Amino acid sequence: MTKLINGKEISAAIRAEIRQEVASLPLRPGLAVVLVGSDPASQVYVRNKNRACEEVGIYSEMYTLPEETTQEQLLSLIDQLNESPLVHGILVQLPLPKHLNEEEVILRINPSKDVDAFHPANVGKIMIGNYDFLPCTPAGVMELLAYSGIDPAGKECVVLGRSNIVGKPQAMLLLHANATVTICHSRTANLAEVCRRADILVSAVGRAGFVTADMVKDGAIVIDVGINRDENGKLCGDVAFDEVAPKTSYITPVPGGVGPMTITMLLKNTITAAKRAAGLEVHK
Ligand code: NDP
Repeated sequence: MTKLINGKEISAAIRAEIRQEVASLPLRPGLAVVLVGSDPASQVYVRNKNRACEEVGIYSEMYTLPEETTQEQLLSLIDQLNESPLVHGILVQLPLPKHLNEEEVILRINPSKDVDAFHPANVGKIMIGNYDFLPCTPAGVMELLAYSGIDPAGKECVVLGRSNIVGKPQAMLLLHANATVTICHSRTANLAEVCRRADILVSAVGRAGFVTADMVKDGAIVIDVGINRDENGKLCGDVAFDEVAPKTSYITPVPGGVGPMTITMLLKNTITAAKRAAGLEVHK
């Protein structure tokens, strides 16, 4: 029988633990969230991040900058946040408006405050397998699997998508968990056939209805990272849920699957950053 992996519930359980941990710390972890421009999806993400901080007792600062902000102005704000003793984590909401250089912005964030784990220093650590900051979305997926009692060790895992934010770090985390991992992308040949090999299929493509029943093996575990809108404007993932779900042993819904976990992992990273700043021990 198919089991639904409830990311909302799992996330709430982890956030309750985080709240307790924050209350027990000798300092208040702080997160600065920077938004440039007025992209409606980004505004929602940023608001949710601030709300989540409040919920668990993390101090948060929010910077909403106008669309026409210059690279120099943005870098100068990052310099200021790098220096601030109240701010342990800095998050610049991506994508930035086209005239800004994202790579330079990411490089400017002090790696010890880079709670999104996008700085090459942190990306490299993820590759090595000895990392301070969790790549938020992929780490959220790993938590969903762990909470559901699923051990990726020895399993065939197929990751759909090779972005720096989701696909690549997801493959790394699964590899560190001893899975046999295949990464697929837009140039993969015989995609459906490759996907059908998967015991665990993680989709991060960004297209509604992309994963269909013929791409899924009977009894597979399907994790849907996608956040899309269907033809009626309704929020949905990459997976054609109604036709795929009956074939699976476990599946995540959208909304209410991976989404809430991403912010929860960001909260964890902010605590890690604060603990490191205070010279406290961090458990990995
Ligand atoms: P990107 O657009 O950066 O990457 C999409 C990937 O999908 C690329 O690697 C691309 O291949 C691949 N792809 C596109 N078309 C096909 C195809 N026809 N066949 C096979 N592969 C294909 O997206 P992101 O990784 O940033 O995000 C993916 C999805 O996850 C989005 O819906 C996004 O909104 C969502 N997301 C959700 C989060 C959450 O918290 N739940 C967090 C982050 C993202 P190629 O490299 O060859 O172009």
